[in-house]
Amino acid sequence: MSTKPICRLSRALLFAAGVLIVVCSFSSKAAAQTANIIVRVLPDSGRVAIEVNGGAVSSWSFVDSYAGIVGLGRRIERFAAFDEGGAEVSVTQPAPGQFRSDKPAKRVRYEVNLHPVSRASDFSLMSWVDRERGVLTPLDLLPVATEPGAGWKNCRVVFQLPASWNVQSGEARVSPTEFVISDVERAVFAVGANLRSSQTNVAALTLNFVTNSDWAFSDADALELSQQVLKAHRETFGSVPGKTATFILFPFPLAVSATQWSAETRGTTVTLIMGRLPSKVAALAQLSTPVTHEFFHLWVPNALALKGNYDWFYEGFTIYQAAQTTVKLGLLSFPQLLDSIARAYDASKNETSLSLIEASGRRFTGGGNSVYAKSQVVAFLYDLRLRSASHHKRSLANVYRRLLGTGEPTVGKDGSEIVAGVLSEQMGSEDFISFFVRKSVSINLVNELAPFGLIADMSGFRSRISVSEKLNKQQRDLLRELGYNTGTHAPR
Ligand SMILES: [Zn+2]
Repeated sequence: MSTKPICRLSRALLFAAGVLIVVCSFSSKAAAQTANIIVRVLPDSGRVAIEVNGGAVSSWSFVDSYAGIVGLGRRIERFAAFDEGGAEVSVTQPAPGQFRSDKPAKRVRYEVNLHPVSRASDFSLMSWVDRERGVLTPLDLLPVATEPGAGWKNCRVVFQLPASWNVQSGEARVSPTEFVISDVERAVFAVGANLRSSQTNVAALTLNFVTNSDWAFSDADALELSQQVLKAHRETFGSVPGKTATFILFPFPLAVSATQWSAETRGTTVTLIMGRLPSKVAALAQLSTPVTHEFFHLWVPNALALKGNYDWFYEGFTIYQAAQTTVKLGLLSFPQLLDSIARAYDASKNETSLSLIEASGRRFTGGGNSVYAKSQVVAFLYDLRLRSASHHKRSLANVYRRLLGTGEPTVGKDGSEIVAGVLSEQMGSEDFISFFVRKSVSINLVNELAPFGLIADMSGFRSRISVSEKLNKQQRDLLRELGYNTGTHAPR
């Protein structure tokens, strides 16, 4: 399939971009007291007009790059600043998205050009609006600080929308069009004409599903799939990641292949921009892949609050674990799971110069294949070895439960070190992580899979992984845990 998972986590990306915290020099005290941000949505012109009232400052800087997308600052237009008396002050623009005034200004007004101009695969990652709907992420709409100080904590945002449009968000709602943003990095707003929202519950977690498009499946179908996936993930982790989550599903704002999708999980919001396949079965199958993967991110990394670039774990390992979940749910067959590992191996077999940890620091400059594909293969090898070494008592799921359930604070700790520690602890040895994660290695897939009754065939254009016809009992038991069914996959 030509689909490509593009899922990127804001915190990690911010670190990658060198922006540590999103703050602005507006007074948080004032922000907490007043409705200080007004966002007027202008679908006909593909823009939003924003007015910010805050503390007096004389420089404003907007995020210019995010998740490998560059040039976002150029979208800021018609920037004007006003002093306390309401008089416009002179503003210069030293670079796109950078503004300075001679005198401090308490109020600024500007427009953000949100015409869809980027690659379709980027659409879940940034703000956009068209004539029917849009996704607004304050991270790329509001100025970030060039000086430490107060932040955008608990500031109020008011939306001015066209008739028949409404807004949905996981942020605290004050009125139908007014919200309190608790964290600019994590906030996402869906806007559109006649937005529909519906809810489902899994344990203490309520998922709010938001769309305004017609799909080959019903909203109830999407909710049912969401609930199944959340339940399966809850079994893996042993808990839910919070009380609420939001799932925004929109079509692309420009013509793309119907098989394409772009997804991101930011805070507790999953945004999925997806092509519209005409067949219900095909459309639900398409939906299941990003939903399974992205919902996993509600737990890892978003509920962990670890720091550093440990993308190798929360992307590649997530692809593997989410694929295993889809097998359990009957949405993917065991041979398809093996195929996905073989494809990941082919995509990353030449990635031998960087360790997974090193590649995570260069995710958007050449390390992507390692972070997603090679790490997926490593996750599979880890799971096979752990299940075998523990005589089927432990699996990768134990690692996730341990990470989420240690009771020890993980906030601010280095992700790679914490995760490597738990992976080694569960295995009872540091050897696997030292070799496959800390070192740059070439994976000998034939040798690695052979002990588990799996045959890697590298002779063709594409590698293939199949199950040996001469499995011993232990191998058969292990593969059955992963979904192997002798009746359909081992013809005799
Ligand atoms: Zn992801």
